[in-house]
Amino acid sequence: MIVVLKPKVEVDKREHLIDWLKGMGVDVHVSVGEYQTILGLVGDTTRLDMDLIDSLDIVDSVKRITEPFKCCNRKFHPDDTVVQVGDVKIGGGYFCMIAGPCSVESEEQIITVAKAVKEAGADMLRGGAFKPRTSPYDFQGLKADGLELLKIARAETGLPIVTEIMSTADLPLFEDVDVLQVGARNMQNFDLLKEIGMTNKPVLLKRGLANSLKELLMSAEYIMASGNEQVILCERGIRTFSDYTRNTLDVSAVPMLHELSHLPVIVDPSHATGIARLVPPMAMAATAAGADGLIIEVHNDPPHALCDGAQSLRPEEYADLAEKIRSIRTALA
Ligand code: PEP
Ligand code: MN
Repeated sequence: MIVVLKPKVEVDKREHLIDWLKGMGVDVHVSVGEYQTILGLVGDTTRLDMDLIDSLDIVDSVKRITEPFKCCNRKFHPDDTVVQVGDVKIGGGYFCMIAGPCSVESEEQIITVAKAVKEAGADMLRGGAFKPRTSPYDFQGLKADGLELLKIARAETGLPIVTEIMSTADLPLFEDVDVLQVGARNMQNFDLLKEIGMTNKPVLLKRGLANSLKELLMSAEYIMASGNEQVILCERGIRTFSDYTRNTLDVSAVPMLHELSHLPVIVDPSHATGIARLVPPMAMAATAAGADGLIIEVHNDPPHALCDGAQSLRPEEYADLAEKIRSIRTALA
């Protein structure tokens, strides 16, 4: 249920109402906007008398929400959320370019790529240290050593680091990571979502391979309901009957998620297509559709990459694409 207060309600009257609502057994999420304050009531609202609340002199309107997601719902929070990572902002008009290799392979590799993507205008560095691979015989990532190499690359370039966490047991190792990535395969690892919801780190939450938008939003809800509101949604392609691409990029997810939620939405055209030459057109399509950023795989030597070489751009290709993305952003403004 959402309760929209009248403009300029006095703080003590507002607090009195909030205390009363809490006393009725519901959690109250307060969104103070420039003109209006909105109270999002989460929990069992069946005992609340909607008409009674509506009749209060400080209340403008009361609505029942049918969607099961509350914290990430735009109805509760009409303004875009801007997630901030150091000096980098994502959402609410701030566009963020995240780039780097699928996996961290060596100090030389990650530093070379980090410098190249920074030069091309990237805002953050990606790189997997813990890799969720389909085969147990494939490269599983450098794990803790990979995280250390990412920190060295951050110190060299100043780029904040984004890297995937697969297990709650690894959380202590991620203390000094800037953005926790939850991969497609872990989108519904609810214990992981709850645990990272208790941290204060921004989370990049990828859509699962075969998950609906509602399921993605419910996963964001897990993180937010645990107290962490800094969630970035990521569309990375879903399984369809497409036979020539790794996945199918659901471009319409971008405007639909924006409609449903106030959280920033970014797109990963690399995993969506699996083919490097398809990454630029899909990145441009996602930008034109209103994405708040892009996460793109870049490798200095794609044919020899230990993971996802076929979909990795070379640094010069990334630089060329970044330029085109800036032009599209300018054209949209
Ligand atoms: C990745 O970003 O390297 C990755 C494994 O992505 P996804 O979880 O989207 O497959
Ligand atoms: Mn990858």
